[in-house]
Amino acid sequence: MDLGIGGKRALVTASSKGLGLGCARALAAAGVDLVMNARGAEALAAAASSIRDEFGVAVTEVPADITTEEGRSRVLDAAGEPDILVTNAGGPPPGTWADWDRDDFIAALDANMLTPIALMKACLPMMMERGWGRVVNITSQSVKSPIPALGLSNSARAGLTGYVAGTARQVAGSGVTINNLLPGIHDTDRASALDTGVSKQKGITRDEARSEREASIPAGRYGTPAEFGAACAFLCSQHAGFIVGQNILLDGGAVNLSM
Ligand code: NAP
Repeated sequence: MDLGIGGKRALVTASSKGLGLGCARALAAAGVDLVMNARGAEALAAAASSIRDEFGVAVTEVPADITTEEGRSRVLDAAGEPDILVTNAGGPPPGTWADWDRDDFIAALDANMLTPIALMKACLPMMMERGWGRVVNITSQSVKSPIPALGLSNSARAGLTGYVAGTARQVAGSGVTINNLLPGIHDTDRASALDTGVSKQKGITRDEARSEREASIPAGRYGTPAEFGAACAFLCSQHAGFIVGQNILLDGGAVNLSM
């Protein structure tokens, strides 16, 4: 299927690895020029270079911490007037309710709620003026089914979800769509780190922890960054203009909701 977005320009934050990289690669495969970002310059340069070689699109890399105002400002300057915005940042650490104090919540809200909101606020006016734009926020299945050990993430994602529910409907009439993609367990560094956490907590090996987690998914496996990226690229396509303000689970059936 031709996604109809060749020649457009996308900003994909936190995209040197994992789900963000999956999205960047799928957009590049559709002919979209990219601005990519991550903190670590080396992995970012390697990811950008492999995308240039494989897909022949223009890629600008901006090493920066997207959760800081200074980092966002440099990334947004490089992005100029993007047609497509994919927001992503690292997820907060796991723990229990008694571990978290105000500073932990502020850090989580900054990373996973206020950062995507600031990026949207910067990019939406240009998209609305042009009458076309696509925003996809990478959130989490925890939006539909909160995960007890990820209370910081649950809290921040709930705030972002509420913001998007209103904002998506305020901008839809200008040809701009905003949707959230909710990953279940995907095969990335983040998933491996969570496997390690489970193995330590339960006194089992990491492979056993992974097998246990795979068994909790009806599809019987972890998702891949490539299939996550393909869903993101479709939401950014010309065909997805009537999909507005949705929270779309990609979780192999793990969350059982009838509606
Ligand atoms: P990942 O494999 O650890 O990759 C994270 C990417 O984000 C890396 O490129 C990392 O590069 C970059 N990054 C992290 N913090 C950043 C920051 N402050 N500024 C700029 N870039 C930053 O993670 P992932 O699994 O793709 O997860 C992506 C998001 O989806 C996270 O919010 C995670 O909580 C959520 N999620 C993931 C899963 C899953 O199973 N994988 C499930 C549910 C939700 P640097 O470290 O070099 O900055």
